[in-house]
Amino acid sequence: MAFYTRIYVVKWRKNMGILIKALALNKRIRVFLADTVDITNEAIKRHDLWPSAASVLGKTMTIGTMMGAMLKGEESLTIKIDGNGPIGNVVVEADAKGNVRGYVSREHVHFDNKQTIDDVTTLGYNGYIEVIKDLKLKDFFISTIPIQTGDLAKDFTYYFATSEQTPSLISLGSYFTTDGFAQVFGGILIQLLPDALEEDITYLENKVELLRSYSKLLKEYPHQEEILKLLFNDDYHIIETKEIQFKCPCSKEKFAGGIASLGKEEISEMIAKDHKAEVICHYCKEVYHYNEEELNKILIYAKGKKKDEIN
Ligand code: ZN
Repeated sequence: MAFYTRIYVVKWRKNMGILIKALALNKRIRVFLADTVDITNEAIKRHDLWPSAASVLGKTMTIGTMMGAMLKGEESLTIKIDGNGPIGNVVVEADAKGNVRGYVSREHVHFDNKQTIDDVTTLGYNGYIEVIKDLKLKDFFISTIPIQTGDLAKDFTYYFATSEQTPSLISLGSYFTTDGFAQVFGGILIQLLPDALEEDITYLENKVELLRSYSKLLKEYPHQEEILKLLFNDDYHIIETKEIQFKCPCSKEKFAGGIASLGKEEISEMIAKDHKAEVICHYCKEVYHYNEEELNKILIYAKGKKKDEIN
């Protein structure tokens, strides 16, 4: 593993990505394109990710935003991946509104292979991918597949084929600059709709080679619609273009509820010993501080008995 340091001299862009949803080939296939360079850089900044950890989390978030675009209203989804590699767990949450957040167990991981970022070694290939969809029904929709390769584009192609019975083509790309931030980052997901024809499959098969180097396409075509045009000439129709962003809905109030759930005994111990508490959000690394007065307020709402009341 290479040691990686980063100098924080970065000009932030708008902190927004763009997601395009389109139909192509006479509306027999649907296409999602996501530009996630800002989302990935926000994750790098928040989690201090080294490049191959950033590549794996960024690609999972890219897939998350495209799957989020298949949802509606208040629906959301969680992707959990454990490939038994050095990065540990990868967790991403995305919703229908274009919000995405995510974290990994170990941020300081970097592997490259012939100067190419090595996602497979980083993630590992002996584990599972779990997708949990909250469709605001009584139960969650949960689907788990074994990791096939450790290559996220390939493994999610397998996921869509087996768990959602939707033949898909996924390509993901990234390019990092020497400061460890992403210069380009994004992905494309192409899915056959039920009335797709044999000739559509052949058409797409002929585009596989072009899509294989998605990083190159992202660098050459800064506007995603140019990639659509390159792939489908004029036989496409954009149905939605929306902004996507790294956004965590955590707050001091929400975590106060979490502290309250620890129970009176633990909180009163915390007050006696430390007189304060600190909570860090896994997803966005935001730090929330609670002083003694705030903890005493939380104690009122907590369940159970205080330590001195038990004895
Ligand atoms: Zn958060």
